[in-house]
Amino acid sequence: MTVKTSVLVVGGGLAGTSAALFLAWRGVDVTLVEKHPGSSPHPRAVGFNARVGELLRAVGLDEKLPPSRVGKGFGIRRVRVSSLVGERFEETFWSPPAQLSNIEYSPCKGVGVAQDRMEPLLRDEARRLGADIRMSTRMLEFSQDDDGVTAIVQGDGEPYEIRADYLVAADGHRSPIREALGITRTGRGYMHTSRSVLFRAPLEEYLKDGIGQFVVDGVGFLTTYGDGRWVLMLEDREYEETELREKIFQAIGRDDLDVEIITTGRWTISAGVADRFSSGRIFLAGDAAHTLPPSRGGFGANVGIEDAHNLAWKLAAVLKGESRPSLLDTYDAERRPVASLCHQQIFARNDGHNRDRTPEDAPLIDNNAMHYGQLYRSDAVLGAGPELPPAQLPEQWNGQPGTRAPHAWIEPGKSTLDLFQRGWVLVADHPQWEEAAQRAGVTYERIEQLDVFGLSEKGASLVRPDGYIAWRSVDLPDDPTDALAKAFRKSSAGTR
Ligand SMILES: Cc1cc2nc3c(=O)[nH]c(=O)nc-3n(C[C@H](O)[C@H](O)[C@H](O)COP(=O)(O)OP(=O)(O)OC[C@H]3O[C@@H](n4cnc5c(N)ncnc54)[C@H](O)[C@@H]3O)c2cc1C
Repeated sequence: MTVKTSVLVVGGGLAGTSAALFLAWRGVDVTLVEKHPGSSPHPRAVGFNARVGELLRAVGLDEKLPPSRVGKGFGIRRVRVSSLVGERFEETFWSPPAQLSNIEYSPCKGVGVAQDRMEPLLRDEARRLGADIRMSTRMLEFSQDDDGVTAIVQGDGEPYEIRADYLVAADGHRSPIREALGITRTGRGYMHTSRSVLFRAPLEEYLKDGIGQFVVDGVGFLTTYGDGRWVLMLEDREYEETELREKIFQAIGRDDLDVEIITTGRWTISAGVADRFSSGRIFLAGDAAHTLPPSRGGFGANVGIEDAHNLAWKLAAVLKGESRPSLLDTYDAERRPVASLCHQQIFARNDGHNRDRTPEDAPLIDNNAMHYGQLYRSDAVLGAGPELPPAQLPEQWNGQPGTRAPHAWIEPGKSTLDLFQRGWVLVADHPQWEEAAQRAGVTYERIEQLDVFGLSEKGASLVRPDGYIAWRSVDLPDDPTDALAKAFRKSSAGTR
């Protein structure tokens, strides 16, 4: 038996499941294999940033997700304590401290849902949109040729073959696929190993001041998933259950509470970015492409979901014959620098993860710039040169090609971001641009907020299906139809 599919995704964690979701949403025939029957009962990520909220809003999932409990501008607050109920010492702020700004960067807030609840939500939606998701199915081997990829997988029964046009390797930080492809990694490498115990306890009353992370003197690091579940991170050694209970009570500072131990974990914390994000028809996404240790930047899972989003529209465009395969080269060109910048910023920050070695000597970049203001430089962007910084605040970019199209409310409840994602869009407010858009076959959206795109009233911006600006003309050129047609063909690697 050979199963035929356009895209095979290996790995059903956050990156793989997001890839299946975004591809299915774009009408791509996608099959995902995951060796486990479901999500790990021990969540890792505690929440997701507003940029991921935007990607989920675009596919209509945001209303199913609870809002983040993280206070605006502060991120997850952390304090050193003698115990949860005991004395509180200094609070360790983000580094750099979040700049409180009156500018509203996004229509979305962060998403306050633990990883083991997020994954099934994404999976169910991907299935509803037509993705073929095969849990308890392991990929055993793969090979690629000029026309596609062949994988041998095994579920309950005999091994069988899946033949796909492309393969997304979202098989986690150890990524057997990356290793088999001989793709090396650059970065800090192994940092440390820690143990964790996940437990349920009625401790909500200690969360009222908005602090959710506690460095407990002499015990370890205590944090909450915001749903009655807590995790205590401990040094790496074996623990009997009675000792784990003692540690939990010590961390809480009370032993008169009902504590249910759910599970334990052992985590290898390491950091590294793959030296190539693709090889032929195979694309690395998520931790397979970059292992970014947990920090309050929340770069790990969030960056992986954004990889999947960047890749999905490109695969969809190439599979539909609208773009040449060279468009897929821009995945590495755009996402690898983002991962490297996140790697750099994690170690430039005092978030506790520079403890293994010396901090990175690099300028600190504002969190909002990291979340909303990363610059893509690739053939799918026109006019983003090497002289530009890798990330800035949206108001500093002011509609620069290569950055995420800025958010502004068009009407109550409707953001400029809601205009994008389905396809290529030209934003402008001029009849000649409307005609040019019709001729080029891109959707025309008339908006009044041209200033946030850095445009004069006669200017136009071409926005890609991932909501990034591909090109802009600040004013009206002599021949707008020709200018747009050329820009569209070039940035989309268009076949027409
Ligand atoms: C303790 C901890 C806390 C964290 N907290 C945060 C946080 O708060 N915020 C944040 O953004 N990130 C956080 N992270 C990072 C985040 O959890 C990871 O970045 C994210 O889970 C990676 O997702 P992924 O889908 O790339 O990989 P994974 O979740 O590792 O998924 C890979 C999947 O591939 C499957 N697989 C592998 N090989 C095969 C095969 N041959 N066949 C079939 N399936 C296969 C595996 O079973 C696995 O399910 C944390 C990480 C840790 C360790």
